[in-house]
Amino acid sequence: MTTARQEDPGALGFAGEVSELHDAIRRHYDGLIDLYEELWGEHIHHGYWDPGAPPVSRHVAQARMVDEVAAYGGVARGSRVADLGCGIGATGIQLAGKLGCRVDGVTLSVAQVRRGREKVRRAGEEGQVDFVLADALRTPLPDSSYDVVWSLESCELMPDKLAFLREGLRLLKPGGQLVVATWCSRDADLTPQETTLLRRIYRDFAAAYVLPLASYRALCEEAGFEAIETADWTAQARATWNLSVDIVKPFVRNASYIWRLVREKGTDTFRFLNSVPLMKKAYDQGVMHYGVFRARRPLA
Ligand code: SAH
Repeated sequence: MTTARQEDPGALGFAGEVSELHDAIRRHYDGLIDLYEELWGEHIHHGYWDPGAPPVSRHVAQARMVDEVAAYGGVARGSRVADLGCGIGATGIQLAGKLGCRVDGVTLSVAQVRRGREKVRRAGEEGQVDFVLADALRTPLPDSSYDVVWSLESCELMPDKLAFLREGLRLLKPGGQLVVATWCSRDADLTPQETTLLRRIYRDFAAAYVLPLASYRALCEEAGFEAIETADWTAQARATWNLSVDIVKPFVRNASYIWRLVREKGTDTFRFLNSVPLMKKAYDQGVMHYGVFRARRPLA
């Protein structure tokens, strides 16, 4: 059994066996698949809002996030994309529909593979989007085959960030592009209270740990990438949690609905609902940031 690599002991939440983390991730995404879809929709990630502009709905902002990450990553029409940590395939369907991309999604959750395939069929994108049940740190996908390796809010769940980036490098064609959007910590210098807050978030989301955005530049270099760039999108993403508190409120008030979910899904339901105010607090306190980075596999 491998033990998690610890790049940043100060903010680490996960220090156990990788198999335990993977079990927690499977339980989380298999067990909460309906609740996620009901509360979040098909995109399991933050929204993107222009700061100061009139607010748009959360679903519009979530779809916008995919467009923004695609633009930031320079995803070209017809690209072959490996989507590491793909959820139920909403990104793949959007990239296939808008840009004609051919997308292979990787997830640890068998329920997500099933649901994703169903959605792809309904969207008429069979043949364009497919799913692989695998660990993103060691996928069965072929070497040097993808124009783009994409990770939208899955990197925070990875117990070994360097191994994750190296797997991305292996999958990319020479000159291919990595693009990652991930939860980040403000920096590595956190107070004990801030570290506790992050640990509670890790537990509730079955996340391994987050890193400061600046750490990813060094990790990308170490993995062998070039043309590394980073950007902080905290201001664009943070409104996700204002809206989400409102979304969760009716469920919290409706005790019989909650009890039914708890009976069916176990206590993960409580954690799921509890995690929303925690994330809002982490943004409000400036502990949590939203980071994106891109990097290229060298030609030789
Ligand atoms: N990118 C998707 C889903 C984000 S949720 C979206 O934006 O909608 C996080 C996803 O990462 C889940 O699908 C989970 O199964 C996946 N994941 C987490 N750790 C993983 C690992 N080690 N290997 C493969 N998938 C992983």
